[in-house]
Amino acid sequence: MDGVRGHALLLPFPAQGHITPMMQLANILVANHIVVTFVNTEFIEKRLKHKSTDYLRFQSFPDGLPPDHLRTLKVPELCESLQKHAPFHVENIVEKIMQADSVPPLTIIVADGAFSFTQKIADKFSVPRVAFWTTSACGFSAYYYMPLLIDQGYIPLKDDRGSCKNDVITCIPEMEALRVKDLPSFLTVTDAADYMFQYLLREGQNTLQASLVLLNTFQELEGPVLNDLNAKFKNKVLSIGPLLLSSAGYGDALADMTNSSIWKEEKSCLEWLEKQKESSVIYVCFGSITVLSDEELVEFAWGLEASNQPFLWAIRPDLLQGSSAVLPDDFVERTKERGFFVSWAPQSKVLSHPSVGGFLTHSGWNSTLESISSGVPMICWPFFAEQPTNRRFVDDVWKVGYEMRENVVREEVEALVRKLMNLEEEQGRDMRFRLKKFEDNAIASVKAGGASYKNMQEFLRQMEKKIGS
Ligand code: UDP
Repeated sequence: MDGVRGHALLLPFPAQGHITPMMQLANILVANHIVVTFVNTEFIEKRLKHKSTDYLRFQSFPDGLPPDHLRTLKVPELCESLQKHAPFHVENIVEKIMQADSVPPLTIIVADGAFSFTQKIADKFSVPRVAFWTTSACGFSAYYYMPLLIDQGYIPLKDDRGSCKNDVITCIPEMEALRVKDLPSFLTVTDAADYMFQYLLREGQNTLQASLVLLNTFQELEGPVLNDLNAKFKNKVLSIGPLLLSSAGYGDALADMTNSSIWKEEKSCLEWLEKQKESSVIYVCFGSITVLSDEELVEFAWGLEASNQPFLWAIRPDLLQGSSAVLPDDFVERTKERGFFVSWAPQSKVLSHPSVGGFLTHSGWNSTLESISSGVPMICWPFFAEQPTNRRFVDDVWKVGYEMRENVVREEVEALVRKLMNLEEEQGRDMRFRLKKFEDNAIASVKAGGASYKNMQEFLRQMEKKIGS
């Protein structure tokens, strides 16, 4: 292994939206001659079935939960179990690497932002810990400013009947547009002892101890929030996104090895998209965790049908809580001329397909960034975590999508889909114009000379400095 520049341990939170950007980062590190040990939970690794190579090694550890546990559908239980079990196993993995002759010693630990337990391990083995928050900068900022939000009486909520949910939050710098209901869902609880509330409060503050903070975003999109965070974090916050674009720059050599889809992609929809008119299809997908009620599924279906628009709908088998997601037979029959269903879509390829003109999304950060990077406007229906914050920025700050009310009704689905897909509509035209600029900025940012590119180089340099010192 000639020319090795370092050895990074990468530890994502075990959920699709965290694994994907971490794997994209792995791709870039490997292309820069850094050996990567990618650590998943056994539950995830069984589904990904990776094969290790000299440069990209996969290891896994048990998450402490029984095989049939629903995991990401019960996030607090997953977090609690990981906090209990992961420190021991991760430390063991690090120790073994440090003692091994067959691999270079670790030079850095890059762990999910919500895994600050790795700080102790990093300190013990004298390697820096980098916190990689796979959220938007605005989402991370909300977590970081939790003490201030508590101090100012915004959270925890005084009651959960919604009376204060429209209050405008004035204390977070560069987030003036935010209402209480736009805060990450883990913050808008009434009980200060709530597990996730305390967990994120702690993790947000523990990020201050990290040597660097990485964010999968770009300066031209979230500049003001990033600048504010950098003032608080002594310039240790590096925006390196969109990683989807920068990792693609390194070609497909690692594509098979680094495929990080937990579900099997159904590529047949790409052929179907080939047959559709330019910008005519609305893509509907709620990510890897969102669950719908029967009623919500039916309202979406009716709304889509009534919109008369071609649609591609990704419906995971576990999209409906408690039962497998089945659409009414007559709906599928009636829409078969202009509807296409998959259980898991090759989403980034779908969004960059010229036939796709709009995205009905749950506003997960990866989905939002993929949409912006492909110039596709959105209808936002957030489910949890910092998705409401992303929704607010999409709708009110970047103005590249519409907010949909929490309570799904077919008339609103129909009206918003019609509005979004109408290429003549003035608001929509402005949106597409802004998106084109963001798309160009995103591409420029990861190219030589761009802000994300420079930050990535800075990250690589810091790693080498640590190795040399
Ligand atoms: N995704 C996909 N196909 C699907 C649904 C989701 O490839 O049918 C990918 C999507 O491209 C994104 C990730 O899964 O990269 C979901 O992450 P996101 O942050 O948007 O939401 P989460 O799943 O974490 O709620």
